[in-house]
Amino acid sequence: MAPTTERASIFDPDALERVRRELRLHPQQLRVVRNAYFKTFASEQETLALFPAPERVHLDPLPLHQRLDSTLDGASKLLFRTSSGLLTEAVVLRPRSGRSSLCVSSQVGCAAACRFCATGTMGIARGLSVPEVLGQVVAAGQLLAREQRRLRNVVFMGMGEPFHNEANVSEAVARLIDPSYFNLSPGKVMVSSVGVTDGMLRFGERFPRVGLALSLHSVRPDVREQLIPLAKRYPLDELRKTVRELNVMQGRPVMLEYLMLAGLTDTDEDLRALLAWTDGLDVHVNLIPYNPIDAAPELVGSSPEVCRVFAAALKEHGRKTTVRRSLGRDIEAACGQLVKAHTLSERRAPRSDTSSA
Ligand code: SF4
Repeated sequence: MAPTTERASIFDPDALERVRRELRLHPQQLRVVRNAYFKTFASEQETLALFPAPERVHLDPLPLHQRLDSTLDGASKLLFRTSSGLLTEAVVLRPRSGRSSLCVSSQVGCAAACRFCATGTMGIARGLSVPEVLGQVVAAGQLLAREQRRLRNVVFMGMGEPFHNEANVSEAVARLIDPSYFNLSPGKVMVSSVGVTDGMLRFGERFPRVGLALSLHSVRPDVREQLIPLAKRYPLDELRKTVRELNVMQGRPVMLEYLMLAGLTDTDEDLRALLAWTDGLDVHVNLIPYNPIDAAPELVGSSPEVCRVFAAALKEHGRKTTVRRSLGRDIEAACGQLVKAHTLSERRAPRSDTSSA
């Protein structure tokens, strides 16, 4: 066979294998490169230096557009420029426990258009490719490695509905838990959906040990549909059936994300409805204090005291419950807010390169 000058992406195992065979390299030489890039998070330069023909491999890094560090709690928001020119984001969390986590995006924008979410108001929705999803993990892993920290958890709770980009998200999760790629424990990966039931079930079947979260927010149909327009397609009884099936399939609790909104989701009626809805299910309720967005001035977050009382009542009735500590408030790390601001201003003004590493 005539030699080619193919340059293989590190994310494309077939192309890498072709290059390896053509150059008659030992398989171990590919393993060394993968381990360096995906497990110890070596820099691009260090990784390429490990390969005998660095010009034949490209690492597909996701270009970092901007990094913002919280002065409050050690969260960092990373904005990346995707191949379409639009920005997406990931958030690195460094809680006091030392278990660093990363929240990744699966799309630029989101078609779910949830009322409480800035991403949903962007008016665009484009699925990220597998290298774009995993590029967020590599960049965050490199950042943490430089701080002598290890990336412990990856959650798909950034921009986008993961099951609107199901094939790429599933492939990315497969690589995250694959021993020859990132080698994360499946229990350290979680995918959060607004309730795309068929996608959740397919995912649960393929990845029985990977966590699934459902953005529930209310079990009153009118309120849920007001908050999540997509809820009309996935009624609450279907969601409940899905959680039950996932419990059987996965043998582990489904995380229920529940936004605490004053007078809307935090009343006694809401509590009673939530207790009834969760009866007999294996779930972990995660109450989320609300970060206000300009586009929804009518939504007001519950007070910390109301959150505390709501959580205590759930626990009293035997529901595993936590109140999420909101990190990165000063860098708008919650919900695509900064990306939205950047994307809109860049649509109005000619693009300028403001990259900062
Ligand atoms: S909350 Fe999630 S699903 Fe809803 S619009 Fe925002 S990114 Fe999309």
